[in-house]
Amino acid sequence: MSKDASKDAGALGPGGSTTASLAPEAHEVRFAKFLHRDSKGRAPGTAFSPAIVPTSIYSLASDPTGPYQYARWSNPGWTALEDALGALEEASAIIFPSGAAAVASVFASCLRPGDRLLLQSDGYMGTRTAAEKYCAPYGVTVASCVTSGIAEQAFDGYRLILLETPSNPGLDLVDIRDCARRAHAAGARLVIDNTLMTPLGQRPLDLGADAVVYSDTKLFNGHSDVVFGHVASRDAQLLEGVLDWRRVCGAIPGPFETWLVQRSLDTLELRLERINSNAMALAQTIAAHHAPVQVTYPGLPSHPAHKLARTQMSGFGALVGLTLASKDSAEQFIASCPYLRPTTSFGGLHSSAERRTRWGDRVAEGFIRLSVGCEPTRALCAAVVRSLDLLAAQVHPSLRPKA
Ligand code: PLP
Repeated sequence: MSKDASKDAGALGPGGSTTASLAPEAHEVRFAKFLHRDSKGRAPGTAFSPAIVPTSIYSLASDPTGPYQYARWSNPGWTALEDALGALEEASAIIFPSGAAAVASVFASCLRPGDRLLLQSDGYMGTRTAAEKYCAPYGVTVASCVTSGIAEQAFDGYRLILLETPSNPGLDLVDIRDCARRAHAAGARLVIDNTLMTPLGQRPLDLGADAVVYSDTKLFNGHSDVVFGHVASRDAQLLEGVLDWRRVCGAIPGPFETWLVQRSLDTLELRLERINSNAMALAQTIAAHHAPVQVTYPGLPSHPAHKLARTQMSGFGALVGLTLASKDSAEQFIASCPYLRPTTSFGGLHSSAERRTRWGDRVAEGFIRLSVGCEPTRALCAAVVRSLDLLAAQVHPSLRPKA
């Protein structure tokens, strides 16, 4: 096609689509720029992939100078990954050896005795446990509120409000922009655990949050082979406190794990696109099936906060909530589907499922948290439909699928 012809509105592009439909959306441009942020201008012979530097010491004569002095403080691989994570978030990032350590760094650096901390009562239970076990004994008052009540919850008197949206595992939403406005009016900081969405699916810092925390064990790494986390913020003072806690207390990631997360980052958009479309297809398929199962997914119009989801999120995430009649039917459903790994965690390439009451989450006995992976969509949906058919046949034996 000549250059001039390609400028004409309606000219045909690859696959017969029009050039108008090829106009990239803002998040697509952002990710393409991210992928090529350092493609140009390198000295000949420079590797594109960052090095793994397994060292505990650096050459350090006389008075300490330079970025690398002792390996509890810095490592070239950390610098490369923090630059990449920061570029994705349009902020600065500090990495940790787990999501739990990232959350702990925020608690330890933002809270002092006498402060009040607000969490969700139905959010990720590890965060509540950490606060109750390790903040409360130091004089921090730890309060919690159910996700559906956050919109009415007063924020006065709190130093820190840490929320996740969607909540894990109930998948209720909070309005980040509204919470940030109310938190700041009350003199509190708002931190969002954005693990379920990543900055490609939801941008809390753009909506006014002071920081985001992540378990990179999930979508960022995405291959179920690393435990990792990070904090990102545009507030230099907040991030300095987080960095200082890591330097002093030593919750530092290993060079090899750092490199694995770095390598995974470049496929994040690709994986998320498949995960989001698989999750949507599965949610719709299950909702339309006659088996006795209730589906919760922010992308379905039946979700109570679907309208907010459409404005706050791009893509609706990997997690789908299924409520079956009992513990037994939930276990049978998971066991019968060959494409559901029976495991915990989420955000990996392989779809998985688990009953959340086995960890003490306050959900129904038959509640399954389904983590949708990157399998070919129709194969995944067909396998889940076969398991739903079996489920339906338990209630109505005449519906038993033919062998
Ligand atoms: N935040 C959320 C929302 C999580 O689901 C998890 C772990 O499941 C964490 C934080 C803790 O992350 P990690 O297991 O990487 O320490």
